[in-house]
Amino acid sequence: MESIPQFLEEKLITEYGKDTYLKILEGYKTKRNTSIRVNSIKTSIDEIKNVLDKESITYKEVSFYKDALTLDGEQEEKIRGLNIYEDGLIYMQSLSSMIPPLVMDLGDNQDILDMTAAPGGKTTEIASIVQNNANITACEMDKIRCDRLRFNIEKQGARVLVMEKDSRNIDEFFKFDRILLDAPCSGSGTLDLNNEKQIKGFRKELVEKSIKRQLGLIRKAVKILKKGGELVYSTCSILKEENEEVVKEVLKDSSLELVNIEINKKDLPILESLEKTLTLYPTENYEGFFVAKLRKK
Ligand code: SAM
Repeated sequence: MESIPQFLEEKLITEYGKDTYLKILEGYKTKRNTSIRVNSIKTSIDEIKNVLDKESITYKEVSFYKDALTLDGEQEEKIRGLNIYEDGLIYMQSLSSMIPPLVMDLGDNQDILDMTAAPGGKTTEIASIVQNNANITACEMDKIRCDRLRFNIEKQGARVLVMEKDSRNIDEFFKFDRILLDAPCSGSGTLDLNNEKQIKGFRKELVEKSIKRQLGLIRKAVKILKKGGELVYSTCSILKEENEEVVKEVLKDSSLELVNIEINKKDLPILESLEKTLTLYPTENYEGFFVAKLRKK
């Protein structure tokens, strides 16, 4: 097993204190369970439970989302061999990553933008929540990842307009009711100390580069958000400089306000963070993750 990069250890202790740091470290060592999201465009949770029961696959329900289930990681191979996976009736997605679309207050006929969309877990979740009854645009600048996004959208039967471009260049003529910015980040919430390559690649420069991109993207998001519209900003980092510091930067614009994250928090592994935002630390069921919601007054 690798050891945690020293600069990260120091940052986490400074930001959260020694006791909480030790909990985070435990999460970095723990293998995560598999989780699946039911694609309600094509099926229902009851149908999926029936299939899993017939296949003798055991699962647990998730307190914050009726369409999600967790499974022991050893059953993942079996799931991948089933028709429900092949035909896009379910999507393998981390539990933390299901939270942003759930808190977007989505509704029919809204103009919705997913600014950084590949491979499409959250785009297809949005489509599933609104049952394809909204105008969803998904933007992705990386060509190979954009192909993957198109593939997943098609497989899930989602109705989405895909734009292969840098979303910082979206024409400001277009305005949206809801924007999801699931920003590129250092991934400090998803580190796995058993993954040598990932740990060796985790450097200060990665954090600095991520912050620059996050700031560029969130500033653009604010410009193309309609008045009264809402922006959900998320990352799979637990570093405050990629999360609440980025949010605080755009909050200097007095037309914006933070809005509470409305979700059942009963079982969530919550870290202390800026009021109204949500930060999770890594555990066997959750990746470390951050979510904030902003409204344009
Ligand atoms: N939301 C995705 C999901 O749930 O499947 C994961 C998104 S991942 C955290 C960030 C994505 O943003 C990457 O695919 C990356 O290529 C893309 N990206 C980074 N900068 C971008 C930009 N300026 N414009 C569009 N896409 C960008």
